[in-house]
Amino acid sequence: MFGMEPLGQDLIVKGIPASGGVALGQAALFVQRELEIPESKIEEKDITAEIERFERALLDTRYQITKIRGEVAQKLGEDEARIFDAHLLVIEDKALIDETIRDMEKTMFNIVYCFYTVSNRYIDAFSRIDDEYLRERATDIRDVSRRVLHNLMGIDSHGARTLEGGILVCHDITPSETASLEKGKVRAIVTDVGSRTSHAVIMARSIQVPAVVGLRDFSKRVRSGDTVLVDGYDGVVIINPSETTLYRYGQIQKQKKTLEDRILSVRMLPSCTRSGDDIPIRANIEGIEHIDQVRTTGAEGVGLFRTEYLFMSHPRFPSEEEQFQAYRRAAESFAPHPVVIRTIDFGADKVDRHSRYYNEEANPFLGFRAIRFCLEFTEVFKDQIRAILRASHYGRLKMMYPMISGRDELMRANALVDEVKEELTRAGIPFDAEIPIGTMIEVPSAALCADALAQECDFFSIGTNDLIQYLLAIDRLNDRIAHLYEPSHPAVLRTIKMIVDAAHRHNISVSVCGEMAGDPVYLPLLLGLGVNEISVVPSAVAVSKYLIRNVSLNQMVELTARAFEIDDAKKILTLAEGFYREHVLEQGL
Ligand code: PEP
Ligand code: MG
Repeated sequence: MFGMEPLGQDLIVKGIPASGGVALGQAALFVQRELEIPESKIEEKDITAEIERFERALLDTRYQITKIRGEVAQKLGEDEARIFDAHLLVIEDKALIDETIRDMEKTMFNIVYCFYTVSNRYIDAFSRIDDEYLRERATDIRDVSRRVLHNLMGIDSHGARTLEGGILVCHDITPSETASLEKGKVRAIVTDVGSRTSHAVIMARSIQVPAVVGLRDFSKRVRSGDTVLVDGYDGVVIINPSETTLYRYGQIQKQKKTLEDRILSVRMLPSCTRSGDDIPIRANIEGIEHIDQVRTTGAEGVGLFRTEYLFMSHPRFPSEEEQFQAYRRAAESFAPHPVVIRTIDFGADKVDRHSRYYNEEANPFLGFRAIRFCLEFTEVFKDQIRAILRASHYGRLKMMYPMISGRDELMRANALVDEVKEELTRAGIPFDAEIPIGTMIEVPSAALCADALAQECDFFSIGTNDLIQYLLAIDRLNDRIAHLYEPSHPAVLRTIKMIVDAAHRHNISVSVCGEMAGDPVYLPLLLGLGVNEISVVPSAVAVSKYLIRNVSLNQMVELTARAFEIDDAKKILTLAEGFYREHVLEQGL
């Protein structure tokens, strides 16, 4: 899927689109100089001086990071600046500092060498972890330790700042290097490695510099001075593009920008169809650090707070009090809009391998996950329920359970909620006694038992990401079979219809919080089936609203009726794409 393919005189390389936009410029290769680490022995009498040198270097590093943090906060806002809080934590890490000093006292090698080896041990350990978030911590440590080493050795930091006016090409880039780029000076960033969620990429998106990552050995194939065209929308980089390509890209860029502006212009307007039906659009978040971003999207609150992220990537689970603070902050930030807190969906791909709760499983997606975990570790679950109930006093919270497969699990979860409610009442702690409790419908058995479940909860939220994988037997992480993961499959549409009809028979509402809702091609099918509201990634709020405002409910019901006459996923997709073209792409042209 990745690789190089020559086309005419263009050399096209495909990678991962990381930050939108198109840029043309000359390649500026940024090669991080390998540091030459002195490997000399010290004597007993040098130890104090070496420690003082180390402490000074840490202080200098702290000063530099704080300065960058201030600049970033000013340029991009507090949210983006928080990345550097993680860096500050690295230089305050007692384990890293103590181990370095202990190593020096034991081996009698100089402090530079000891810090270099100890920090490399940390980087190695983190980069081997099978979890994208934790792997990113390795980048933080690498970034900070390079700074400390520069300071220890009295070398000026060679940041990317010195590269001007071109396309920055490098093997990898650290967040602080990205932060020191000035918008307008570097036109785009392309890297051999990286993922969409790496901090450096988040920074690129924030300073609105197009970026393509994961280009494998691109930095070895391009020469400084080559003309490079970067398409951050589609993740394509073209070396020495032809005239025709340049013309075509100019046109594409203009069209994309116009459409983007049109879509963004409606984001703060009501989410209401042409026929006057309100379809609330809420946002999916993974932590309270996303709150500020969501508030600028025009979303009416949060329809899915994936709380398991509070429990992952930390040495211990958050306490009830820490959770309470997070849920309360979310509740207060969005009131009077609701925030739907989903209880821990721990397991499958969301596991912390260091956790004492982790077990090696042959089929993790069919394993010890979500509500199954919570119903076994009831103390962990009750702590979370208590935190959610306490926070419900401060805004409009709803709670929902993931991976419910049948009535028994739902009843057992509800019984634990009742127990906690009684405990809180006895203790005189205020909470919303009427807090709505919902069930995620993401397991086929739950869809088949939807009538029974609807009688025991206040709303449904369909998790199409899992529902589709379980219904079609397609592992959602396996790119070998990703082409078979078809949201337009007739079985998927029929199942969603079954769920919606059951909910409405029992007068409860249905939301969809899986990725299908955030895709404007599929959204009309969901709304045509009677889905009442949606919850989508923050970046999809505007396009969803744009679509909803351009169509009537009847048009979507008719589209769905036509889809139900077709027994082929690809043909249904073509039908839905036609609707999308007509009501989004060609609207207002
Ligand atoms: C889903 O399965 O659609 C869902 C929203 O939950 P997650 O993606 O967190 O599994
Ligand atoms: Mg799910």
